[in-house]
Amino acid sequence: MRRAMAEAEVGDEQLRADPTVNRLCRRVAELLGTESAMFLPTGTICNQIALRVHCEPGDEVILEETAHNRHFETGAPAALLGVSLYPVAGRAGVFTAPQLEQAVRVPDHHFPRSRVVLLEQTANLAGGTVWPIETLEEVCTAAQRLGLRRHLDGARLFNAVVASGVAADSYCRNFDSVWIDFSKGLGAPVGAALAGSTEFVERAWRFKHQFGAAMRQAGIIAAGALYALEHNIDRLTEDHENAAQLAAGLAAIEGLEVEPPATNMVFFRTVAHAPLSAYELADRLHERGVAVSRMPDGRLRAVTHLDVSHADIGRALRAVQECMS
Ligand SMILES: *Cc1c(COP(=O)(O)O)cnc(C)c1O
Repeated sequence: MRRAMAEAEVGDEQLRADPTVNRLCRRVAELLGTESAMFLPTGTICNQIALRVHCEPGDEVILEETAHNRHFETGAPAALLGVSLYPVAGRAGVFTAPQLEQAVRVPDHHFPRSRVVLLEQTANLAGGTVWPIETLEEVCTAAQRLGLRRHLDGARLFNAVVASGVAADSYCRNFDSVWIDFSKGLGAPVGAALAGSTEFVERAWRFKHQFGAAMRQAGIIAAGALYALEHNIDRLTEDHENAAQLAAGLAAIEGLEVEPPATNMVFFRTVAHAPLSAYELADRLHERGVAVSRMPDGRLRAVTHLDVSHADIGRALRAVQECMS
């Protein structure tokens, strides 16, 4: 990947004259089945730009209550867009068409205007769970009938693809805007891509400039993303196997409560009478070279990815065992 980046042919991305970025955008559009795509530095800005295109101030976005956009993007929809969020309580990050129908406001000048439904594939905080294609289609069909724009946060779309066997373009075809992250499990150092119709992407270009995300020789980082799409999708199954193995090992350690993983994330916590709190466990693991993230609700999250080998899982489990005893 580093070699591909070093050798990348580059141009001025702002002028849409970077050949590597252009190649990446064509590849993303092809994979996701959209007319067009745009390269951006992060997933967070993909969400904001898409919502900026779809909404005007005072509009409301309907999403699942655990959505990344609601918890981990520093209130950006409010801060940058004047947009409010309407959380729906799903199950494992997934909600249904009837729940969407209930969340939509009747048109009345007292209310915010329901404008967008945002789905997250996979649902991060809910456990890396996969939206079943049938449920996703039902929600999207209802959204279209209700006059809502449909936006897919596909930070880990390809984890859903390899876990379910459903192709990426099948997940995406029901959406007005979709994006994927190259810097999560796909293992590129930087970048995300936002995709949709030609008209959507043209409108998004204005906000890419406005938010300061129109770049120069971005081909250097786009080359890493292209390499990731070529080499790092199929191997995501290894991450899922490692996550399953990690979860099984953690579940066998006394004092831990483990959620069965759906893809590449394992959420766990320490039980009430355990010798350590979850956050103390995270500190001790850190000292032993094992990184886990602390969730605001007291859970810990372990993520498997291409820098974590099968042997590392064994090492991590031994470290947890040591700390807990
Ligand atoms: C990581 C993540 C984002 C934000 O992506 P960045 O590239 O870190 O800005 C958005 N949504 C979900 C579900 C994520 O996991």
